[in-house]
Amino acid sequence: MSKIWSALVGKNIRVYLAEAKDMTQEACEIHHTSEVSSIAYGRTLIATSLLSKLLKNDQDVLTLKIGGTNQIKTILATADYNGMIKGYISNNDAELPMMKKGKIGEAIGLGGNITVIRDFGLKEPYVGISHMLTAEIDDDIAFYYRNSEQQPTGMKLVVKTENQKILAAGGILIQPLPDATPQEKLAFEKAVEKLSDFEEQVHLEMDPEALLKHYFPDLEIRITNTFDIAFKCDCTRDRIARALLTVGKEELKEILAVDHEAVLKCHFCNTQYRFDENDLADMIQALDEDSHH
Ligand SMILES: [Zn+2]
Repeated sequence: MSKIWSALVGKNIRVYLAEAKDMTQEACEIHHTSEVSSIAYGRTLIATSLLSKLLKNDQDVLTLKIGGTNQIKTILATADYNGMIKGYISNNDAELPMMKKGKIGEAIGLGGNITVIRDFGLKEPYVGISHMLTAEIDDDIAFYYRNSEQQPTGMKLVVKTENQKILAAGGILIQPLPDATPQEKLAFEKAVEKLSDFEEQVHLEMDPEALLKHYFPDLEIRITNTFDIAFKCDCTRDRIARALLTVGKEELKEILAVDHEAVLKCHFCNTQYRFDENDLADMIQALDEDSHH
């Protein structure tokens, strides 16, 4: 089971650390991703699960959208407060002729955007958008928080692959709180610089305390909580049926006449939902009755 540890460093630096091999592996198997796509997709999922820990309420949902300009046009991931993560990648087969140290920015391409959507169950979700700095995702998220939300942030995301297998995956999110002392702010900046070696720290068995001690040698470290995280879709046959209804009565009649069935796939988990002649006839009848009211 993948997990996230939350920690308080000193009195005013919060850290979230993820060990995410299982979650990443499962998501990549469902989407049959190539090595490059696995890294980009895995990083987005890990980032989303880390950021979801900043949500405050049970019903809150965070969505991260990576809008690329090259091979990978869209990666979308949604996580709720309880650690359920689902995600979609528009191109599961991205390739780079030469991948330097897991750098996948070229596959996503520069000039795109990252969008952070926080849904607090109100009428309108909170939407923040920023251009991408390197398209490596972690730098882009840190840049977004620093610039759009005036919240200094360090983030590093790592997905290690070999022969289509995920060997290890992890991520870290560091933020100083508003009351951080000058000493804590300095420790934060030093830790962010040091994150360039985070890849070496990501293993299947991570010791969160030792790892944080490595980045914050002079401050007290307190692990405050551990959360399970997992790739899990909340789609249902009902929800997919409602999506099918939106094509309208005439379109449904045509599908019934020509194809005799409709097969819809959930983009997040690739589950197929099949609606046969009877289902389609019922839907058309329901729309008929609706329009007569
Ligand atoms: Zn689904």
